[in-house]
Amino acid sequence: MKALLVNPWIEDFAAYDFWLKPLGLLYVGAYLKQLGFEVFLIDLMNRHDEEIKRYIDVPKDKFFKTGKFPSIKIKKPDVLSFVPRNFKRYGASEEFFEKKLKEIGNVDAVFVTSTLTYWYPGYWDTIRFLRKFYGEKVPIIFGGFYVRNLPSHAKQTNTFIFSGSELNKLPKFLGSIFEKNFETKNINWFEILDPAYDLYNNLGYLVFITTLGCPFKCSYCIAHRIWNGMRFRTPRKVVDSIEKYVEKFKVKDVIFFDDAILVNSKKHFHVLLKEIIMRGLKLNFHLPNGIHARLITEETAELMKEANFKTIKLGYETSGELQIKTGGKVQDKDLVRASRILRKYGFTENEVSAYIMLNIPGQKPRDVIEAMKVCKNEGIGFSLNEFTPIIGTDDWIELVNNGKLTGREDPVILNNTVLPFWWKYGMNSNLIQELKHIARKIKEGEFIDTVNEDFS
Ligand code: SF4
Repeated sequence: MKALLVNPWIEDFAAYDFWLKPLGLLYVGAYLKQLGFEVFLIDLMNRHDEEIKRYIDVPKDKFFKTGKFPSIKIKKPDVLSFVPRNFKRYGASEEFFEKKLKEIGNVDAVFVTSTLTYWYPGYWDTIRFLRKFYGEKVPIIFGGFYVRNLPSHAKQTNTFIFSGSELNKLPKFLGSIFEKNFETKNINWFEILDPAYDLYNNLGYLVFITTLGCPFKCSYCIAHRIWNGMRFRTPRKVVDSIEKYVEKFKVKDVIFFDDAILVNSKKHFHVLLKEIIMRGLKLNFHLPNGIHARLITEETAELMKEANFKTIKLGYETSGELQIKTGGKVQDKDLVRASRILRKYGFTENEVSAYIMLNIPGQKPRDVIEAMKVCKNEGIGFSLNEFTPIIGTDDWIELVNNGKLTGREDPVILNNTVLPFWWKYGMNSNLIQELKHIARKIKEGEFIDTVNEDFS
């Protein structure tokens, strides 16, 4: 049987390829191969695909193979008509998509993945395009984060909804679609399978996960609800995968996208780092997913330096009382300690930075400014991310219970770019712009002493 995997378009006001790869879909691909499928992939978001570049201008890489996605302006969904910004489709052109579909020809099933819930218009348009090409005769199986997060919404696409995260459920699921028996032997897929990167022709970088799950329970995050407990892949196997695909694609940049890579680090991350060092891999490594400052030790920093880590993002989010209220994963003292250790082992302000969230419910502007100052004082960078109430998180549930959200909002208006334009319980867009302006001043070294009354 033939299966086609599709990484769909993103439709939003902005999108940047900060090392985005459809890892879940690639694991599905690897699993389908085990079941005997012949598997094909169309990744509409692969900026490094030489063929995509023939159909649309792809902006040049910025740092370490990240960069802007190619885009075209499209009509805004009606529900977003009040937002004074251009709406775009990011990714490959329709001509490229159609040509690839013709090349691949008939398939027995199409698998479409998804990530952020408020990006659903891009997934829906991708599915419409597939339907137009294949008609109703080819089943489309829809999975990924959005589908798990909001299955009833995703069902409106009339696809087959795979809303789990356990791949061992796939054989039974497919069996019910094709009325056929697929072998249902449970495998430890996370340990034995590599994400199916061999389905690509060109890649600019490689993304891996070495653990699944997170033991923390931050109120704004849903990661801890996706996996039951934590799973670790044997570090030697991770490094085998890295070596194999680095050799195949000749890439220099390897990214770990784990939610909690530092948990149990003596038996996991440190072993992984030692294996990388022992094999003499001459690569740039990146941790863009906000690691836990409290779990960084001198040994972690020393090994990361030796292994050549170039991007280390720390999850900081805010200063002030919300640090504890949102789950207590990090406090100022943890961030200060981690920053000092990392600086001591030679990491620079460009290499280490903290994520600070803007507009967490109950957050005061002062909390944001103080957090920025802590980073500046410790000689690390910072970047601001705007809060979005992810459906199903503790924060979202509380906002609904308090009547600050109805719980029935169209997911697109929960987009963090859109929220400040309509939501009256958080920071408005003027305040957000002001905080971004202050962020620039702090970065340039301007001394911000007291905080304006309006900001307290
Ligand atoms: S924000 Fe990070 S630490 Fe908190 S639950 Fe999510 S993944 Fe875990």
